[in-house]
Amino acid sequence: EEIPTIQIIDAKNYVGKTVKIGAWLRQKRGSGKIAFLQLRDGTAFFQGVVAKADVSETVFETAKGLKQETSLYVIGEIHEDSRSSFGYEIAISNLEVIGESHDYPITPKEHGTDFLFDERHLYLRHLKPFATLKIRNTLIAASYEFMNQEGFTKLDAPFLTGSAAEGTTELFETDYFGESAFLAQTGQLYAEAGAMAFGKVFTFGPAFRAEKSKTRRHLTEFWMIEPEMAFMHQEESLVFQERYIAFLISKVLEKNEQELDILERDKDVLRSYTQLPYPRVSYDDAIKLLQDNGFDVEWGVDFGSPEETFLANHFAKPVFIINYPKAIKAFYMKKHPTRDDVVISADLLAPEGYGEIIGGSEREDDYDTLKARIEEQGLDMSEYEWYLDLRRYGSVPHSGFGLGLERMVTFVTGEEHIREAIPFPRMTNRLRP
Ligand code: ATP
Ligand code: MG
Ligand code: MG
Ligand code: MG
Repeated sequence: EEIPTIQIIDAKNYVGKTVKIGAWLRQKRGSGKIAFLQLRDGTAFFQGVVAKADVSETVFETAKGLKQETSLYVIGEIHEDSRSSFGYEIAISNLEVIGESHDYPITPKEHGTDFLFDERHLYLRHLKPFATLKIRNTLIAASYEFMNQEGFTKLDAPFLTGSAAEGTTELFETDYFGESAFLAQTGQLYAEAGAMAFGKVFTFGPAFRAEKSKTRRHLTEFWMIEPEMAFMHQEESLVFQERYIAFLISKVLEKNEQELDILERDKDVLRSYTQLPYPRVSYDDAIKLLQDNGFDVEWGVDFGSPEETFLANHFAKPVFIINYPKAIKAFYMKKHPTRDDVVISADLLAPEGYGEIIGGSEREDDYDTLKARIEEQGLDMSEYEWYLDLRRYGSVPHSGFGLGLERMVTFVTGEEHIREAIPFPRMTNRLRP
């Protein structure tokens, strides 16, 4: 009978059977009689046991000589293993080295963060990055699933653009056959064009921002999911946003129990964030609340990390702060019907210090008001003629938002720093590997 080659994640279907698995060695320990191999095969972390009594002398000696990150095939019987968090192990009867490894730099001792990120191409193989990026993957897959079931069309926005959507600072400029091009900071304006053609669309792509300040929450390249919905006012958009966030959290709870355990993320706390609705607090009330609690803030300022953390923790839930001052928000946000100084916007702030995970608004759908806003901000009108066309030809109320994927990853995983939330982080001080 031929031995099946499997991935360890499918172990439950092979209990008591002999299988072959391609794996890498993480660590090993043992005695003269037995060797315990800590293995990973890309789907999970598991143990292989080599008993001297059960294998040939060559196999036992090979097992004892294995170095960290050697790749190998292990052949043996799958057993349940109630002591490991994974639940299965393999009793190895034979093994075959594929690729040797010498002096692997990330040893079991403690390493500094800078070192680990210099070695990110290898660090990806380790427990914490594995768990975090598996959860990132669930969030991406669940986003497509949710958008599909809600009738959205994925519409790709360009990453190379001729104009800047979010103002002129924080822009990466590049040469485009002799003219200036910018790396996109958002796909939003293109998503609006898409919504006028397909009704409900979402973009998913990288966003580039030359963030000069170093924070735990800012990358220079991050991924954003930007839904845009025609015929939708802000209130309906907020309901959609909270349903989307609750869906994402539920999916991670369903699919990534093991990863959440590895990261020691409290599942009950996460579950509490699936309870809707999330509070809506006006910017005005948020300012008062902050002032009443000793914050030195005046109406008109944008919130920093301490204010955002306080506000969401105060409600012990993600919280929408709605209707921000016009002066601190982008030109395309819709003017409030009765107030000139605020726009119909909402930021969703995560509790526990994970910051703004969503920024969104109803969009200015009135041609004259939008044109005046572009002028007011000193933007080059000729770059926005195509965008104004969306108001010239059958303008409709529409709303949308941007979810920062890595912010969502840190929130769900409980990671302290956003660099953990993306395979190869780009920050002011990091362009390699
Ligand atoms: P912040 O106030 O945190 O700087 P922002 O208001 O500038 O964020 P938006 O333009 O509203 O960000 O972008 C939408 C979402 O993208 C944000 O809510 C956040 O989740 C995410 N985001 C923004 N900037 C970054 C960044 N530099 N790195 C990672 N995610 C980001
Ligand atoms: Mg910002
Ligand atoms: Mg903000
Ligand atoms: Mg924002």
